[in-house]
Amino acid sequence: MTEMVKSMKLPIYLDYQATTPMDPRVLEAMLPYYKEYFGNAASRHHPFGLKAKQAVEDARAKIASFINAEDPEEIIFTSGATESNNFAIRGIAEMYREKGNHMITVATEHKSVLSVCQHLEEKGFKVTYLPVDREGLINLCELKTAITGNTILISVMHANNEIGVIQPIAEIGEMAKAAGIFFHCDAVQSAGKIPFDVRAAGIHLASISAHKMYGPKGIGALYVRKQNPRVRLAPLVYGGGQEMNLRGGTLNVPAIVGFGEAVRIAKTEMAEEAKRVLGLRTELHSMICKGLDCVDLHGSLEKRLPGNLNVSFEFIEGELLFKLINQELAVSSGSACSSTSLEPSYVLKALGVRESLIHTSVRFSLGRFTTSEEIDYAANKIVSVVQELREKSPFYKK
Ligand SMILES: *Cc1c(COP(=O)(O)O)cnc(C)c1O
Repeated sequence: MTEMVKSMKLPIYLDYQATTPMDPRVLEAMLPYYKEYFGNAASRHHPFGLKAKQAVEDARAKIASFINAEDPEEIIFTSGATESNNFAIRGIAEMYREKGNHMITVATEHKSVLSVCQHLEEKGFKVTYLPVDREGLINLCELKTAITGNTILISVMHANNEIGVIQPIAEIGEMAKAAGIFFHCDAVQSAGKIPFDVRAAGIHLASISAHKMYGPKGIGALYVRKQNPRVRLAPLVYGGGQEMNLRGGTLNVPAIVGFGEAVRIAKTEMAEEAKRVLGLRTELHSMICKGLDCVDLHGSLEKRLPGNLNVSFEFIEGELLFKLINQELAVSSGSACSSTSLEPSYVLKALGVRESLIHTSVRFSLGRFTTSEEIDYAANKIVSVVQELREKSPFYKK
C-alpha cells in the first residue's frame, strides 16, 4: 500500500480527452525514422525514400484496417482532426455545391466542425444545427425532417469530447444512404476507445487524430470512401501530388509511423482497456456520489465512452473549486476563459444545463495510464474540497 502511494505522482492527469500521453512503444517505433530512416517518402529512386514510403504505407494499411476501410488509399494523412474536419466539410461543399447548398450538423459538435459550418454560411450555404436532448443525444426523427432536396452533407460526431456521449451513427448512416447524402463523422474521441467501423456505420468521411489515442500530436487522418459511392473532394493543399493529389506537402514520416503503432496497440488492447477504464470511471463516480449530495451528471450514462465523467456540484462557485483542485488534479472545466469573462460550455448549454451549474462542472477523462490509486486520491480530493466550499456557502443546507 505505501509502495503504491509512493509511486503516485501529483498532479494527476485526468484530461485524456484533451490529449493523451504518448505510449512509450509509440515513441520507440518513431525514433528510427528521426535517425537512420530519415528519407523523404516521395524520393522513389533510392533506398532512403523507399524505406520511408514503405513505413508510411504500412501505417496507412493499419489505420485503414482498424476502421474497416476497404482500401488503404481511402486514408489521407493530415495534421490532425481539425484539419480533417475542415477538409471533409469544405471539400464536399466546394465539390458538390451544384448539387445543393444545405448541410446538417449538431449543436454539440467540436469547434472545428462548427466554425467551418459558420464560415460556409457566410459563403451562402444553409446549415441546420440539430439540438440534443438532456442526455446529449440527437433525435433521429428531427434529423430526417431536416433533410431537404438541397442537403449534401450530414456531419455528426461519434463520441462527444466534453460529455463522452455516443451518437447513433449506424442509424444516421442508414438515413444518409437512403437519402443519397454524404455522412461525415468526427470519430476522434471514439477511435481506439470503442469499436468504430466506417462500413458498418455507412460513413463516407471520417476524421481521426493520433494524439487522442496515445500517438504523437500534429498527425491525423481523413477517411474518404472510394467506392459505393465514390466521394470526391476538392483538394485542401495544392502541392507535389502527395496523398492522392488531395493534400500536398512532404509527409511527416515519424509521426505517421507513430500513428500506425498507436493504432496497432489500440487494436489489440482496446477491449481490455475499455473494461478497466470503465471500472475506474464507475469507482470515481460512486465515490463522489457517496461523499456528496447534489451532484449532477451531464449526458447519458449508458451511451457514453468508458473514460468520461462530467459532473457539476451545486451550491459552490466554480472558480473557487478549480483554484483549490488545479494544482493536484488536471481536469477540464465547463467554462472557458474568454477575454472578459468565463464562457459557459456550449455543449452543456445545448443539454439545457443552467449556467450557474455549468461553471461548477468538471470533466474527468481517464485513460490507459490512470491507476486506481489516482482515482481514490482524485475522488477524495474533490469530495473534501466541495464539502469545504459548501460549509461556507449560505445556500447549502445539509
Ligand atoms: C481533439 C478533437 C478534435 C481536433 O483534433 P486535433 O487533432 O487536435 O486537431 C476534433 N474533434 C474532436 C471531437 C476532438 O476531441
